[in-house]
Amino acid sequence: MAAITHPLHSLTLTSKSPTPRFKTKPFPKLQISASNKPISGRKLRVAVIGGGPAGSSAAETLASGGIETYLFERSPTGAKPCGGAIPLCMLDEFSIPPELIDRKVTHMKIISPSNLTVDFGKTLKPNEHISMVRREVLDSYLRSRAESNGAVLLKGLVTHLDIPNHPNQPYIIHYTVNNTIKYLPVDAVIGADGANSRVAKSIDAGDYTCAIAFQERIKLPDDKMQYYHNLAEMYVGNDVSPDFYAWVFPKCDHVAVGTGTVTSKPKIKSLQKAIRSRVLPKIAGGTVIKVEAHPIPEHPRPVRVRGRVALVGDAAGYVTKCSGEGIYFAAKSGRMCGEGIVKASEGGEKMIEESDLKREYLKQWDSEYVNMFRCLDLLQHVFYGSNAARESLVELCGDEYVQRMTFESYLYKKLANGDRWEDLKMGWNTIGSLMRCKIVGKGMEGFDPSVVARFGL
Ligand SMILES: Cc1cc2nc3c(=O)[nH]c(=O)nc-3n(C[C@H](O)[C@H](O)[C@H](O)COP(=O)(O)OP(=O)(O)OC[C@H]3O[C@@H](n4cnc5c(N)ncnc54)[C@H](O)[C@@H]3O)c2cc1C
Repeated sequence: MAAITHPLHSLTLTSKSPTPRFKTKPFPKLQISASNKPISGRKLRVAVIGGGPAGSSAAETLASGGIETYLFERSPTGAKPCGGAIPLCMLDEFSIPPELIDRKVTHMKIISPSNLTVDFGKTLKPNEHISMVRREVLDSYLRSRAESNGAVLLKGLVTHLDIPNHPNQPYIIHYTVNNTIKYLPVDAVIGADGANSRVAKSIDAGDYTCAIAFQERIKLPDDKMQYYHNLAEMYVGNDVSPDFYAWVFPKCDHVAVGTGTVTSKPKIKSLQKAIRSRVLPKIAGGTVIKVEAHPIPEHPRPVRVRGRVALVGDAAGYVTKCSGEGIYFAAKSGRMCGEGIVKASEGGEKMIEESDLKREYLKQWDSEYVNMFRCLDLLQHVFYGSNAARESLVELCGDEYVQRMTFESYLYKKLANGDRWEDLKMGWNTIGSLMRCKIVGKGMEGFDPSVVARFGL
């Protein structure tokens, strides 16, 4: 077995070349075993591209499971534009230490186009909250944990992958560090490189529709910050978003004020202006400390596994439509994919193939989450389509049973166990509310009121 002695071969750019030219060295080699056959003299080698929650969770799981793991991150000191709200179950499932949490939100207000305001946290128990984190803090913690479990963190930009022509060839990762082009041959790849995934392009995984989310971080005077110390706000209305919602989320010493849209991307700045003016009295005197924007996938990619490459997190398209939530699903999919590879390769001792990734990762993911994502799509379609529908959404949110079901589904990522009679009442209240707002009949095709009960709003 011709195992290579050092996996990180580099080619240095000549400094004055107008186009990159480099000393030619052959690609480093990696002897690939036939599918499901033992690998001798080394362990399965996997590259994880992207060190966000998806990539770090995948890398930690792989390295702990005995796989030779390389985690690539182009910008380890950067901060992903994000609201940073994570559900309670993530703290336990991913052992997130409490000091990483900036704010514990125990009150939520949802505000309709006509400014009808509903307090949405009335049913939370004393130990329940929505955690607010800064992504720069969470991401660097998860990356370090992957490293301490044995993953090698490579601070570089992956430019593309060479796809093997034969099953017994490796994938070659091309990446740059300080103007030096480097290559790494690997057995398998996890693409966790977010919404603009180069890994997805390299494997021809197809496109998805994206929303654009825009957010300003605003430092508030102390008295104004006090108002938001444990409060998050959601604003709905055509003025702030024709198809999504706008938000004010509290952070350690500032608030994040933002909005998102799929259908009106060119108008994103005027939508942001509108949310600022609706919130104005509460943020007056604040200073904008950061402006950020980023795409949010609307649905999974047509292809999520090809050959020995799997996509996870935003690269795969795992963000719920109604809420724009993706951090938990990124971490969860990264871990699930990592566990699948560890299992199929028997701790890194055997070569894997496409069918292993499909069986151990995709099948598991789809059986756990496809219905949840579909239902949240449907709820968005019904409730975010017009101002009348949004009025009815806010009206419904005043119902304590609706609140309890919604929070239980969000905080614990499980179908909430409802009361049959209350479920029925909630279904009828939903229809009643939509009728009052003259929505029934418009955009209601296929709407089943029981989904409201099963998934909350
Ligand atoms: C404005 C906004 C607000 C949001 N608010 C929330 C919220 O409150 N709660 C929530 O749950 N979700 C929220 N989301 C969604 C959430 O941010 C994403 O779903 C989540 O970050 C996905 O994680 P990921 O690890 O898949 O990808 P990312 O977080 O995008 O991480 C990808 C990583 O890969 C790296 N990378 C990319 N390309 C390369 C390359 N070629 N080479 C090397 N490294 C590379 C990037 O630097 C990055 O670190 C929000 C999104 C936006 C845009």
